Amino acid sequence: MNKNNVNLEDNFKSMDISRISDRSHFDSFLATGKNCWQTTLKLVKKFNGIGLHSGNKVNITIKPGAENSGIVFVRTDLDGDLEKRTIRANYKFVSDTSLCTTITNSFGIQVSTIEHIMAAFNGSGIDNALVEIDNSEVPIMDGSSLPFLNIMEDAGIIEQPSKRRVIKILKVIEVSEGDKFCSFSPSNGSDFSAQIDFESLVIGKQEASLSIEGYGFKEFAANARTFGFMKDVEHMKSLGLGLGGSLDNCIIIDNNEVINPGGLRHKNEFSRHKLLDAVGDIYTAGFRIQGLYRGIRAGHYMNNLLLKELFALASNYEIIDYPDPSLN
Ligand SMILES: [Zn+2]
Repeated sequence: MNKNNVNLEDNFKSMDISRISDRSHFDSFLATGKNCWQTTLKLVKKFNGIGLHSGNKVNITIKPGAENSGIVFVRTDLDGDLEKRTIRANYKFVSDTSLCTTITNSFGIQVSTIEHIMAAFNGSGIDNALVEIDNSEVPIMDGSSLPFLNIMEDAGIIEQPSKRRVIKILKVIEVSEGDKFCSFSPSNGSDFSAQIDFESLVIGKQEASLSIEGYGFKEFAANARTFGFMKDVEHMKSLGLGLGGSLDNCIIIDNNEVINPGGLRHKNEFSRHKLLDAVGDIYTAGFRIQGLYRGIRAGHYMNNLLLKELFALASNYEIIDYPDPSLN
């Protein structure tokens, strides 16, 4: 039996308002605390931005998703059956991790750069949502997750009458390649830690960590921007990539200096961004992780490798209902 199976068709049934519970009053807008019910967006929100690699203007609509549907992308720029234009944000559909995380369905239809919006869904506690997009690339916005998080906050978050499910890590799972390392270990929370080590003096060795359940995403990672080196930017543009990249959506380092006029948002903004990427990539597990993620010099590729290793053995994990805090 496929433990990650979700009923995709449910996602496209019209939302039945009577099935939305009254338990929609959170202490903060975030639903990442000890909340045992599934959540989705309250309102539909439309926005647009520029694709980092294509440079194209991209329109996005985020909508409420049915219970147990998870996060699902639909391409609205293509003709054909809905099923063929639908791509579930699941690690099994990750097809490319070279510059960003790309998912592709069995019909070859893809969406790329999903990690920052996925991080916002994970970090704001949204279990189910439908993302309609008229391009193959999620817009880069300001290079962080904060614009997505703000839009989700504007939409509002409501509970649904199905129990939230989490993937409980039962033992230490590790993957490594060269000097890159990634692991899950058992923990009561949904905790992330990322360490990076760059020769560039501006970055050097730095670490960041957060707890999703402790509302840590917004505070510690959401506004950390993606980064790159000027020499790589020039190379990428010569290959027709990074065409939408600018100092408005990327930290650029040249000669050991951040050249963005406003400088950094945090001294360790680079490791915070790695944390953000991990929160997004690991959410392609299908459910939130109950455990500790650690990444050392890791990126999208290692994050996907870790999920494949996790699901390779049924004794590594257990999918459980999130415990009802009122029963403790
Ligand atoms: Zn990123």
